[in-house]
Amino acid sequence: MTLAIDGWFGIGEDGAYLIGTRCAACGTVCFPPRRPFCPNPHCGGESMAEVRLPRRGRVWSYTNACYPPPAPYVTAEPYTPVTLAAVELAEEGIVVLGQVTGLTVDDLDVGMELELTTGPLTDGPLVWMWGPLS
Ligand SMILES: [Zn+2]
Repeated sequence: MTLAIDGWFGIGEDGAYLIGTRCAACGTVCFPPRRPFCPNPHCGGESMAEVRLPRRGRVWSYTNACYPPPAPYVTAEPYTPVTLAAVELAEEGIVVLGQVTGLTVDDLDVGMELELTTGPLTDGPLVWMWGPLS
């Protein structure tokens, strides 16, 4: 299976996981992974270690996309609206946007726990998605 983006996520024995970076000096966590400089303006850290992020987080916000995104994004014909969620990883202090699979906006609420999974883009490669708890 081809991943849509190398180095941003992977699939392990427990399922899909996101790859972030954590600053050795201040602990700031980033997704997508950033190197070599820490993005915290109060930190001069230059050692960002790769970390696997937690597979579960809570909905911070959500919406649906009723209009197809522009090229080069490949959409199905006819276009089917997709659900998007911004999911907070509280301990890391970050919010990760992703497409939602298996749920619609009618199913989602702010604070609801979701679990990372993967699903195919229209043109084939796998991308991370948020879904119901397994
Ligand atoms: Zn730092």
